[in-house]
Amino acid sequence: MWKLKKSKYLLTLALIASMANIGLPKNNVAVFPYQNSSQSINTRVEDLLSRMTLEEKIGQLNQQSGWRGDNMLKQISQIKSGQVGSLLNVDPKDVNNLQKAAVEGSRLGIPLLIARDVIHGYRTIFPIPLGMAATFDTILVEKSARIAAIEAASDGIRWTFSPMVDISRNAHWGRIAESFGEDVYLSRKMGRAMIRGYQTDTLSNPTSIAACAKHFVGYGATEDGKDYNSTYIPERQMREIYLPPFKDACDAGVLTYMSAFNDNDGIPASGNRYLLTDVLRKEWGFDGFVVSDWGSIGEMVNHGFCKDSKSAAEQGFNAGVDMEMVSGLYSKHIEELLKEGKIKIEDVDNSVRSILKVKFLLGLFENPYTELPKNVFYSKDHLTTAYEMALKSAILLKNDGILPLKKDITILITGPMANAAHDQLGTWTLDGEKNHTITLLDAFRKQWGKDLNIIYEPGLTYSRSKSKESINNAVKAASKADVIISVIGEEAILSGEAHSLATLNLVGYQTELIDALSATGKPLVTVVMAGRPLAISKEVEKSDAVIYSFHPGTMGGAALSDIIMGKESPCGKTPVSFPKSSGQTPIYYSCKNTGRPASGSETLLYDIELEAGQTSLGCTNFWLDDGFGPLYPFGYGLSYGNFEYYDIKTDSHKYKKDDVIRVSARVKNTGKYKATDIAQLYIRDNYGSVTRPVKELKGICRVTLSPGESTTVNFEIPVSELAFYGVDMKYGVEAGKHMLGIGSDSTTPLNVDFEIE
Ligand code: BGC
Repeated sequence: MWKLKKSKYLLTLALIASMANIGLPKNNVAVFPYQNSSQSINTRVEDLLSRMTLEEKIGQLNQQSGWRGDNMLKQISQIKSGQVGSLLNVDPKDVNNLQKAAVEGSRLGIPLLIARDVIHGYRTIFPIPLGMAATFDTILVEKSARIAAIEAASDGIRWTFSPMVDISRNAHWGRIAESFGEDVYLSRKMGRAMIRGYQTDTLSNPTSIAACAKHFVGYGATEDGKDYNSTYIPERQMREIYLPPFKDACDAGVLTYMSAFNDNDGIPASGNRYLLTDVLRKEWGFDGFVVSDWGSIGEMVNHGFCKDSKSAAEQGFNAGVDMEMVSGLYSKHIEELLKEGKIKIEDVDNSVRSILKVKFLLGLFENPYTELPKNVFYSKDHLTTAYEMALKSAILLKNDGILPLKKDITILITGPMANAAHDQLGTWTLDGEKNHTITLLDAFRKQWGKDLNIIYEPGLTYSRSKSKESINNAVKAASKADVIISVIGEEAILSGEAHSLATLNLVGYQTELIDALSATGKPLVTVVMAGRPLAISKEVEKSDAVIYSFHPGTMGGAALSDIIMGKESPCGKTPVSFPKSSGQTPIYYSCKNTGRPASGSETLLYDIELEAGQTSLGCTNFWLDDGFGPLYPFGYGLSYGNFEYYDIKTDSHKYKKDDVIRVSARVKNTGKYKATDIAQLYIRDNYGSVTRPVKELKGICRVTLSPGESTTVNFEIPVSELAFYGVDMKYGVEAGKHMLGIGSDSTTPLNVDFEIE
């Protein structure tokens, strides 16, 4: 009886509510199944979907940027009428207000998903992603993403547009800074680590934020390194190089993807149904949602792919982009496109389902508001992790023995990046605050001031400066110093989105600064802070030691000064090959052998005899001016120790396709300092139905040893990891001979043979 009465009562309530605002349940009394957290997410999604008008459905597909001033009122009224599903770039102080408009002001009370580019930290800034990759340390990278999520969530952000897992082999491209570099294996591992850190196992935890694997796909293969440029990636390369990190993201449970700006072989990524639907949804089974990049749907008109913005909305939506970022084209055109039969309501429903599901998973219906403490910003633990990451990402490229420095000497600190609190944070730091940055100068003064006499003379006040006078001042100051530390590189604005460079040399008069300092005859330690691998051959030659630090974030100076003074040994490794010159890039280690590989004994430009015979120089795969290899190879980085690898063994010489290859090597630190190396295992498939790379990274292992100490490093490589797309485009392992090697970088010789049967 009561049951009957109760259901009648609820029905009446439901009727009243559906005529007015339903909103979220007050006092936890769920009126409708979608409001009841004890129901399954599927039930809740279906229930909510069944109550939505077409306008409300289209609203969920619409992401707006936070509007300011009077426009905010307009935005609030759109939110109240259910026309907005997500916001990005909202001022944190407005988040709860805007959310209130959605939750309490809109008919169904569907919360907004608040997004932001939290790329390498929120307030506490970690090294740029390229620097994160240089740590080769997935645990640390996961931890940094967790910290970024905790800080961002405390400001109401529950969705970040990270990680960017675009394979990047072109240092001209400014966005190489945001990538994990050139290697597929490393990028896969790093991407997974970040997703784990952001999302955790409990998505509904108020500090978990949705990750977004971007930019799907191929964006990093820009033809000439200019941003947004076309790509030409054939199917096999797409599947073996560019797609794998995105596939790993899917396997790691990433909730969202972002479609890229580029057109590949004539098809814009945001209108590519084959990749967005056939591969991502059908082949991989992705069931989150895809957001366009900023305006990338409308830009398909500029690409010359769509005749007008309406057809762009049609093509983007039908390709598989569920949510449209900022240009409002879905809101404007979807209703009409439905009427015209150009898109199907079932597809609209599916997109809405995917978006609602993510909102339910994140617990937004239960906890829409930000109620987290703000004292998480720059907490001790966060700064310690930022320090550790800056430390592990610093790459010692050269050391003639000057490092670590001795105490009780006079040092000159100079160079435009020595005290660049803003620029050392790097690109994409919307929320980082420079007054929290520890620059190298700060750190030396604070941490080492009592052990050293420190002179500071900037030499150049910013990286593009062309002031000869300030160079002269630094040279004068050098006469009073025992050692010079020159910190050069790039301002943050010179890398990142839309900041590509045709020339990779140091900008401004930085080369002149290094020349002048080196001419003083004083030992010169050069530290480079930059967003990309710059072409620094000349500067390396003139320096006694070189440390490369991809913009290292809030704690960069603290970490670098401790390395220079020997409190810590460096252990970062290059996540990209460092070119000798601008023209050498794109350059990467896992290239093909070609029919005429370089022998190393080719005659180079200035050794060519006058009127030399046309074929007398080598006739191989090399540059007359730059030879064959890069300045520094992938995986390279010195420490204060010295690591030697020997006794490399496999547990068998023959393997079946479902076996696991167990490999071990002995490693000894023959140096004078306790240090860490990243043992790297490379494999080459000697021949196949299609040509294979000269080597591919298949395993990494961090090893820390005291002087004279040795240990064994072990790797287990499933044979399935050697699969590739053969001549028939079938994915699998082919029988045949292989070689492997273990060492400190990608030049390690491969001298252990094995066979796949
Ligand atoms: C970038 C994305 C970014 C988005 C939102 C775009 O211009 O390409 O990486 O997430 O803006 O800010």
